[in-house]
Amino acid sequence: MPSFASDVKNALSRTDADRVCCQTAELAALLRMGASAATDAGHGRGLRFETTGAAVARRVIRLLHNMDAEIETSVAMERRPQLRRRIYIVNIAAGTAATPLLTRLGFLEEGELRAGTDMALLRKKCCRAAYLRGAFLGGGSVNRPEASCHLELTARSETLGRGLHMLLRRMGFPVGLTDRRDLYVVYLKEGDAVMDFLSLIGAEEAAEEIEVARNVKEVRAQVNRLVNVEMANVRRAVDAAADQLAAIERLAAAGRLEALPEDLRETAEMRRAHPEISMAELAALCHISKSGMSHRLRKIRAAAEEV
Ligand SMILES: [Zn+2]
Repeated sequence: MPSFASDVKNALSRTDADRVCCQTAELAALLRMGASAATDAGHGRGLRFETTGAAVARRVIRLLHNMDAEIETSVAMERRPQLRRRIYIVNIAAGTAATPLLTRLGFLEEGELRAGTDMALLRKKCCRAAYLRGAFLGGGSVNRPEASCHLELTARSETLGRGLHMLLRRMGFPVGLTDRRDLYVVYLKEGDAVMDFLSLIGAEEAAEEIEVARNVKEVRAQVNRLVNVEMANVRRAVDAAADQLAAIERLAAAGRLEALPEDLRETAEMRRAHPEISMAELAALCHISKSGMSHRLRKIRAAAEEV
């Protein structure tokens, strides 16, 4: 069954690529999340990008070719039975076109692989959103709307994890960072933050689904609260009625019921006849006010205590 996260990624992968500056930022983040360097003797460096989503693989290829039509790519699919999934591999061949492209994307500096920051790609607001979209497509996950709110980006290096954490924090997101074995996980747990992130990267529909599910959860919690209050009221009424009946039985056993004034006797008989009703209903049956009934019941209990 496709997960909510993969649905979101599929939808995002179909969105139109924006400006060249943003395409560069998105591709850089995508590749950083899922690529490893491949060396090709004598030809410089290429890259190998892995993803579990076919749509994401197609988007990487489209972005690569938008940036440089000369770039050589190939795609392969591998089954990973132990993970019960398929992995799509995009190979960027080392060659004359790859080096300038990888340099532009911040992977190479003077021919060497670089593990620096992507600050140069993140100067503009439009590019920051595109970069985060790339990070989500390359290594993001989000809980389905019915579950608790959680969105995370899993980075394979500490530099990248810390970079994403800092970027989100500077953008005002309540973001957390944790390491899971050799992975660095940047996460959002607040509903508003998860929705803001998804809207920012262009997944408005997913953000709306989460909002709808959250409203349903809120209404359900409200109903539960009301039911609990009602249950507590019923329990209190039952306890009170039990106390009253115990007092009445004590008076009856002592032969003191007949000696009570007319109004109290009527109340005691009414209560014995209707042990399950509330005080308000008892008051209505005796045609008196609730406070009048409360007063009578207090007197009955006091009389029983004297026994
Ligand atoms: Zn831009």
